[in-house]
Amino acid sequence: MEKKRKISIIGSTGSIGTQALEVIDKIRDKFEIIALAGGSNVELLKKQTEKYQPKLVSSSANPDLLEGNHNAKILTGMNGLEEICSNKENDIILMACSGKIGLRPTLKAIENGIDIALANKETLVMAGDIVMAKAREHGVNIIPVDSEHCAIHQCIKDISQVDKLIITASGGPFLHKTVEEMKNATVNEALAHPRWNMGRKITVDSATLMNKGLEIIEAHHLFGFDYDDIEVVVHPQSIVHSAIEYKDGSVIAQLGLPSMHIPIQYAITYPERYEGIKSKSFSFAEIARLDFEKPDFEKFPTVKLAYNAGKIGGTATVCLNAANEEAVFAFLDGKIKLYEIYEITKKIYDEHKVIQTPTIDEIFEVDEKIREKTKDYIAHLIQKVL
Ligand code: MG
Repeated sequence: MEKKRKISIIGSTGSIGTQALEVIDKIRDKFEIIALAGGSNVELLKKQTEKYQPKLVSSSANPDLLEGNHNAKILTGMNGLEEICSNKENDIILMACSGKIGLRPTLKAIENGIDIALANKETLVMAGDIVMAKAREHGVNIIPVDSEHCAIHQCIKDISQVDKLIITASGGPFLHKTVEEMKNATVNEALAHPRWNMGRKITVDSATLMNKGLEIIEAHHLFGFDYDDIEVVVHPQSIVHSAIEYKDGSVIAQLGLPSMHIPIQYAITYPERYEGIKSKSFSFAEIARLDFEKPDFEKFPTVKLAYNAGKIGGTATVCLNAANEEAVFAFLDGKIKLYEIYEITKKIYDEHKVIQTPTIDEIFEVDEKIREKTKDYIAHLIQKVL
């Protein structure tokens, strides 16, 4: 009999986590769930725990609320996540949480030789050099869940023969809107992504194209390519999820309907493939056309800023990520306008003194400092307007 794959999900109540459980529901006999961990939605986490009966469950909120019809050991906080990631029973851990919370547990899992299905961008944007070096040292596979990187992972056969990575971007809801319309966009307009159904923070990042900027940095670390060999192309239909160009000019792309279920399933079942979540067969005739265009870096300057941060390296990307995230939160709270996300991020970024090879503790220190500085600056901006 085929051995069940033992999996834990960090961030099981979020957008990627709930979709991962939908994937697992379709191929339930392939998996044993070791642990689930969630954020503030304790009610959903409790329901999941009662349904999947994991051995461990961890909540960042009040763990007492997790008591229920299950035998899972209840854990809490960062210690809870680290205990899950130290459990060597795991064959793979899906890092589906968003934000910096994913970094320490990911390192813990790597140290314990556990493979990672990585959906958490911040892990590589903040500490890509450290994480990838540790993964190599411990012989751990990091399989990307992000659709673009998952696509590249599927295309690459012999990485030494690849010249260039081509990352596609849908262009978000403002692709063909004027700069003026984009400047005055409401939160709801920014959250109305034409192709992908994702969490709120990443959806705003997709509207400003910062998400693409962060993905370039992610790709650099995952595949070890120079920034000059990573290209972005706008592809509004989101059917071609990314591509690679071989030395001889041959281009291999990965295509599929825009559903996160597919990359999630690929990452957690790799290298096996199952029918699982597949709902219908792909039809070129139904799709009829695929469009591509050059990204407009004047309208979406975030991408240029990300290339710059990536090339500088060190804590430049930590700063970029932290300042952007705080500015996105301020936008979601209705405190600033959409275009101010870039202006604020750029201002904080320009003032940052980069540490070239930071330790993990230094990375977290810089992250904290930049967040405080960004919040202060936003408060000062609001004060000025009132
Ligand atoms: Mg993506």
